[in-house]
Amino acid sequence: MLADPRLTDATARLGRALVKDAVTAALQRVREGVLDAAEVVDDVVAGLPAGATSLRRVVNATGVVVHTNLGRAPLSEAAVDALVTAAGHTDVELDLLTGRRGPRGRGALAALAAAVPAAGAVHVVNNGAAALALVACALGAGREVVVARGELVEIGDGFRIPDLLESVGVRLREVGTTNRVHLADYEAAVGRDTAFVLKVHPSNFRVEGFTSSVPVDGLAALGAPVVADIGSGLLVAHPRLPAEPDATSALHAGAALVTASGDKLLGGPQCGLVLGDAALVARVRRFPLARAMRVDKLTLAALEATLTGPTPPVLGALGLHREDLLRRARRIADALGSGLAEAVPSEAAVGGGGAPGVVLPSAAVSLPSLFADALRTGEPPVVGYVSDGRLLLDLMTVPVHLDDSLVDAVRRAAAPGPG
Ligand SMILES: *Cc1c(COP(=O)(O)O)cnc(C)c1O
Repeated sequence: MLADPRLTDATARLGRALVKDAVTAALQRVREGVLDAAEVVDDVVAGLPAGATSLRRVVNATGVVVHTNLGRAPLSEAAVDALVTAAGHTDVELDLLTGRRGPRGRGALAALAAAVPAAGAVHVVNNGAAALALVACALGAGREVVVARGELVEIGDGFRIPDLLESVGVRLREVGTTNRVHLADYEAAVGRDTAFVLKVHPSNFRVEGFTSSVPVDGLAALGAPVVADIGSGLLVAHPRLPAEPDATSALHAGAALVTASGDKLLGGPQCGLVLGDAALVARVRRFPLARAMRVDKLTLAALEATLTGPTPPVLGALGLHREDLLRRARRIADALGSGLAEAVPSEAAVGGGGAPGVVLPSAAVSLPSLFADALRTGEPPVVGYVSDGRLLLDLMTVPVHLDDSLVDAVRRAAAPGPG
């Protein structure tokens, strides 16, 4: 059966094991009498996945721009092209002019350095947590790191910054209370054993009311190096997110090092950035653990294209306006028929990746909530959210070229299923 031309094609594309499993399952259905023996190949071909990964392309209609469960930042087309280019053999560590070994990922590192001129040097690791762990271990193992109690955050999935720091051998010197910390608290704690003062951006929550914290420029006056974990990876200030820290401002304010993620507001691949003082970055980069956090060629390629190419989707989404989104929502709702869908104003959010509490005025297509399951399990899967008994498909996070497929997906979900 595997020799059938339609299945040899599929085997070349998907691998023999996957196709064989599908054939075995179809033959089992023949034995059970639920499939005609003559239809086995057709049945197998119809049921085969489009590609060899079990990951599926999903339409993010949640209105959460950086959605962790949906893979955070979607890459720009330029970054996707770069991934494909780098996927085969590539000159990631070879200087083609001289034929000698070259510095790994020099293009990506140069692009990052150019994007943040305030940084004396830059380094890239696997993710934001790795950047912080590496900096902490290289500069602070066996010594004290001074940090505010209100900044000891849980990043997600049960992982916590304080546990991460202690796991690489630094001692935490916590200062202040959960809601307030003052410069005097830091002054009293900083001493001979201080490796650095850590400033962590509470990127996924907000404390309101009787609060105070010390900004980076205040901490910089303490004398110890300041490491700012800004989280979101904004390289320069963004006008729509005035309270969100960025690497350039943190360095200008006196941070010795900044750590950040690459796949939040930077809009690139998963990676971690270390930016700042050249001597400190060199120490971090040559520290033995750095080799265990090295990024691959795909990441380097996508990061470079994110930094040098057209605006990545995350920043594009932040630039959208409600009136334009409402116009799109009306067009989609009209195509679906007013009995079914309605265009409504909505509120989008940056998400766990940063800017907690910031409301992004947006627009959505509102549908009966019973569409949620059918859309999520359809092809392509469309994920929205239910609010006040209605399913909202927020358009801020849906690329405009997918509007027509959104219409088709809703029509399919509305059609009575087979049987
Ligand atoms: C997201 C975040 C991290 C963790 O970064 P990952 O890229 O998820 O490893 C660390 N610190 C802050 C402040 C963050 O926002």
